[in-house]
Amino acid sequence: MATLEIKDLHVEVEDEEKQTKREILTGVNLSMKTGEIHAIMGPNGTGKSTLSQTIMGQPAYHVTKGDILLNGESIIKMPVDERARKGLFLGMQYPAEIQGVTNAEFLRAAMNARRPQDNQISVMAFLKELDKNLELLDMSQEMTERYLNEGFSGGEKKRNEILQLLMIKPSFALLDEIDSGLDIDALKVVSKGVNSLRGDDFGSLIITHYQRLLNYIVPDVVHVMMGGRIVKTGDADLAQKLEDEGYAGLRDELGLDV
Ligand code: ADP
Ligand code: MG
Ligand code: MG
Repeated sequence: MATLEIKDLHVEVEDEEKQTKREILTGVNLSMKTGEIHAIMGPNGTGKSTLSQTIMGQPAYHVTKGDILLNGESIIKMPVDERARKGLFLGMQYPAEIQGVTNAEFLRAAMNARRPQDNQISVMAFLKELDKNLELLDMSQEMTERYLNEGFSGGEKKRNEILQLLMIKPSFALLDEIDSGLDIDALKVVSKGVNSLRGDDFGSLIITHYQRLLNYIVPDVVHVMMGGRIVKTGDADLAQKLEDEGYAGLRDELGLDV
């Protein structure tokens, strides 16, 4: 079992225009372990993406207080690739087009990065796994022979992200708005992919603005983030309640002014 703990996390970003720093996360606490799927919901601009980027180690986000522990070890000083090797995955991690690297080459390199030098995946084993996952996601072989993300449509990029997830099999997947811009069929495929990983060795933190996705990937725990921290935690019913009553209702209930 792997654990991910976020403790009183405060994060600042630099505002380049105003040449000032702004605190975005104001004390986030969240603990999860593999076997669990947690969802984070919250209004726009409340710091959800900042949290996922900070967990992954995006250098624009400065931790000023608190800590992030992966299996009890602090990761806040580690670069992104080290965090990835230790089992974290962020959707939209590689949104850029990478010239001259095919999708398949990229996938194999990413899988091997998580394996010891003397136990790299064989070409045969890789192709077998790739075929299996392409079929699950209803993707064509041709997608894997194309250069990474080059000319991919929005929907193709999302599907490809889930393919990366299925191939890399991280301990924890941070999935930020994977539902945005997806039609219902694509949403079902993406959800099927995530659900296929559910089990004792996999955990996911799913960030979404809308409840819809959570009909397909039913979370064990739902957190609501407002004003840069988690203001309420509950089970899957909390997402439905939010959908019915809106964030304004919760704001009133909790007496928040954020
Ligand atoms: P959410 O994902 O909940 O919509 P974000 O984490 O994207 O919220 O953004 C929270 C706030 O932090 C916003 O006001 C946004 O403009 C600001 N912010 C996020 N990332 C940066 C950045 N790299 N530089 C400057 N401001 C940022
Ligand atoms: Mg946003
Ligand atoms: Mg966001």
